[in-house]
Amino acid sequence: MLADSHCHLNYKGLVEEQSAILTRARDRGVTAMLNISTRESEWDAVIATAEREPDVWATVGIHPHEADAHPHIDTAKLIERARHPRVVGIGESGLDYYYDHSDRARQQASFRSHIAACRETGLPLVVHTRDAEEDTAAILSEEMGKGAYPGVIHCFTASGDFADKALALGFYISISGIVTFKSAKDLQETAARLPLERLLVETDAPFLAPVPHRGKTGEPSFVADTAKFLADLRGETVEQLTQATAENFHRLFAKTRA
Ligand SMILES: [Zn+2]
Ligand SMILES: [Zn+2]
Repeated sequence: MLADSHCHLNYKGLVEEQSAILTRARDRGVTAMLNISTRESEWDAVIATAEREPDVWATVGIHPHEADAHPHIDTAKLIERARHPRVVGIGESGLDYYYDHSDRARQQASFRSHIAACRETGLPLVVHTRDAEEDTAAILSEEMGKGAYPGVIHCFTASGDFADKALALGFYISISGIVTFKSAKDLQETAARLPLERLLVETDAPFLAPVPHRGKTGEPSFVADTAKFLADLRGETVEQLTQATAENFHRLFAKTRA
């Protein structure tokens, strides 16, 4: 068992050869892939892939970069599309103050509307956060006070302190290929100490190809390389790590078991 908790199979670079990419992933032991939405115009295609492929599931959501372009996507719209049997999570949503492609106040409002959809549906939130630790932690915990909701911090690159806050809120933490980069010493230190029962792995394909594929278009088969690196880093066997992270994936995204 091996689960890629975050990929974009309908993005340019992957969508053109989706079936070959899925075959390569299955050949390397990948048994589950979560196809993530970032804007409304791709929801249909993202869901269609999940309808066609038994080991692919979908999310609906608006990336923080896209918040300005989607003032009409509210909690009700998210809930409506999340009723689809292959939609197992809400996101990706969150805050990105590194690129600031959307107004920060709009990013925050969009983030809160996604959280409300999670609270109503019970589906997990897929959180994107970059250079916005403080506001992300504040919103997650403030919203938790209105009623619990599950979730994951995807492509985790934040501080150890933020990891501890997310864990305390019950969140899972998903590690991408960035952990294999030589420059990622702080992330490696944090990833080495995260509790195994809260850990997920992902590619964020087509982005962030791990060592030894750097420079290539990322694809879900590469999650095997990240899992191997992470297992070595943590002193676990790759079987232990892949099984635990896949079990965690299906526990968090419980609708995948329906
Ligand atoms: Zn992201
Ligand atoms: Zn993503």
